Amino acid sequence: MTHETSWHSETTAVTAGRPPHVPGAPVNYPIGVSTTFSAGDSAHAYIREGSTGTEALEQVLGALEGGHAVVYSSGIATVNAVVDLLPGGAIVVAPNHAYPGTNVRLRELHAVGRLVVREVQIDDPAAVEAAADGAALLWLESPTNPLMEVADIRAAVAVAQRVGALVAVDNTFMSPVRQSPLALGADISMHSATKSISGHSDALIGSLSTRDADLAAKLRSRRTMQGTLPGALETFLSLRGLRTLHIRTDRAEANALEIAQRLESHPRVEKVLYVGLESHPHYERHMSQADGSGAVVCFVASGSVEDVERICASTRLWTHATSLGGVESTLERRRRWPAEPDATPEGLIRLSVGIEHVDDLWADLNQALNA
Ligand SMILES: *Cc1c(COP(=O)(O)O)cnc(C)c1O
Repeated sequence: MTHETSWHSETTAVTAGRPPHVPGAPVNYPIGVSTTFSAGDSAHAYIREGSTGTEALEQVLGALEGGHAVVYSSGIATVNAVVDLLPGGAIVVAPNHAYPGTNVRLRELHAVGRLVVREVQIDDPAAVEAAADGAALLWLESPTNPLMEVADIRAAVAVAQRVGALVAVDNTFMSPVRQSPLALGADISMHSATKSISGHSDALIGSLSTRDADLAAKLRSRRTMQGTLPGALETFLSLRGLRTLHIRTDRAEANALEIAQRLESHPRVEKVLYVGLESHPHYERHMSQADGSGAVVCFVASGSVEDVERICASTRLWTHATSLGGVESTLERRRRWPAEPDATPEGLIRLSVGIEHVDDLWADLNQALNA
């Protein structure tokens, strides 16, 4: 599993995490479905601790993130893994509108007294600072799902260093090729790798990365005890998807920007929320900490809930479905989910823009908007 550290990220994504180039060796690690291994090897004894396939995916992801990656059975499993590092009653500062699953889980842990969770407006650095006193963890998500609020990651890191807190960033919307929280000083970068890392809507998987080798080793040994190793097929699919992350992101992001711009002048659109538009209130902050704007575009459509649901039901190319980051474009009205906060407008539609031809995507979305 060699790769040269001087290579660019695009090259690393393709070359790392492969068997050595020796005669007869496979080019990819096979999907490893054995739960147990012949005795005598210190690295591989029982599958819950991981396998060669796990290590291959972690090598590639770690290299792209600038640290050591640890992979999990889902994105939400990584949230549990991070809070499991904290002592009982620890204070956690978190966004008031993060990915709803994260908010639900943190609120559950707060309700049973496991944590004290302080929810803040995450795009307001003063609010983050005001809540940070005594905190053990600042949990950021930037941009947030689906309100596209942009945290000031560097400012949060500075505050955390002063109060002695860890900083973890949910980096799912940007992917490892558009934002590097570890390079900005965060302790942990987190991904729902179910989304753009895997990229084909066919694998549930998550990852944490850190520059701290001891922390990575601790996460890995706890993962063994939590039983949250991703399955062999998911691991394989995720690594296969990761090989093309750069080119998928380039295409999907270019499509997303074009669609966001066209939506801005559509009569049925009240507002477009996309970090790639200069009209976004934190466009400059975002671009100072990221290398692009990703492929999730949200907009608020005019009309009643039924009108907006009809838009989602009227597309033929776009799939009316939740989740994001696949090669295929999807859309949904976020408030159809009970856990979605009231801050999300009833008419907000989240687009996950894929890699189809942008003119086909626009034609279909435009006919649905006009239906
Ligand atoms: C989907 C998602 C998660 C949860 O990940 P799963 O893989 O579904 O468990 C967390 N954060 C964000 C931003 C997401 O989009």
